[in-house]
Amino acid sequence: STKVDLPVSTRILTVSNQKGGVGKTTSAVNVAAALANLGARVLVIDLDPQGNASTALGVPHTADVPSVYDVLIDEFPLAEVIQPSPESDNLFCAPSTIHLAGAEIELVSQVAREHRLRTALEEYLASVDEKPHFIIIDCPPSLGLLTINAFTAADEVFIPIQCEYYALEGLSQLLGSVQMIQKHLNPRLHVSTILLTMYDGRTRLAQQVAEEVRSHFAEQVLDTVIPRSVRVSEAPSFGQTVVAYDPQSAGAIAYREAAVEIVRKSAREAEGRA
Ligand code: ADP
Ligand code: MG
Repeated sequence: STKVDLPVSTRILTVSNQKGGVGKTTSAVNVAAALANLGARVLVIDLDPQGNASTALGVPHTADVPSVYDVLIDEFPLAEVIQPSPESDNLFCAPSTIHLAGAEIELVSQVAREHRLRTALEEYLASVDEKPHFIIIDCPPSLGLLTINAFTAADEVFIPIQCEYYALEGLSQLLGSVQMIQKHLNPRLHVSTILLTMYDGRTRLAQQVAEEVRSHFAEQVLDTVIPRSVRVSEAPSFGQTVVAYDPQSAGAIAYREAAVEIVRKSAREAEGRA
């Protein structure tokens, strides 16, 4: 198996793109599972009311389950809502429930509404001996208060981009939001990673989109691209990531390669922060 140096301090990435259906959740859970396979302790925070990340990680998230909602609104300690994923000993998830759909509105009237997740994470990291090497936050497809909480809590923005027409549309809005958060709420926030997803190399369009993204973001775009594959889309219905569901499939191999690239950025990320 591949040898990698795990980061010395916790890297917090938020998987964001205000477009829906671009592979945010798929990338969040599969990168998380692949990082766990590399020996990293990984915590996924499901910040999307749809709870797709919780489902894919095999973690219960019915309305009665303590969730990220309780953390954001009722100041539950994060440790009390975290569940192990049955997929791996070092993979964990703070689930989302349907209650989170109301949080976007409820947060508006709350004190320190943009900092709730950050405070919860800081308290959690201060209270545990075995800190995660990676915390990966799966965002909803909007730039509302849930996403702002993720941006305020994270160091790194991870943007999945679907290789199709209009892929770059809306990207400047996302980058503008990142800049605004950087200026007003979280100076550490930066786009560290861009991953091209649902790539179909047979089409000229996919190749053109990939080239264009690489020409604008040479530093951030991973060499690995995630191919479009039925196995990837089937896995969640078995409560699994594709990394566990079909480890030898093209999608699982690609996500493992992406995870290795992400770990190898650790030294550089640490330098950036110092
Ligand atoms: P988002 O979280 O951005 O809304 P998802 O990760 O839920 O996007 O992906 C949207 C849909 O595309 C889902 O049905 C998912 O299973 C499917 N999908 C994601 N990545 C791939 C892929 N590489 N190949 C095939 N289907 C994919
Ligand atoms: Mg999603």
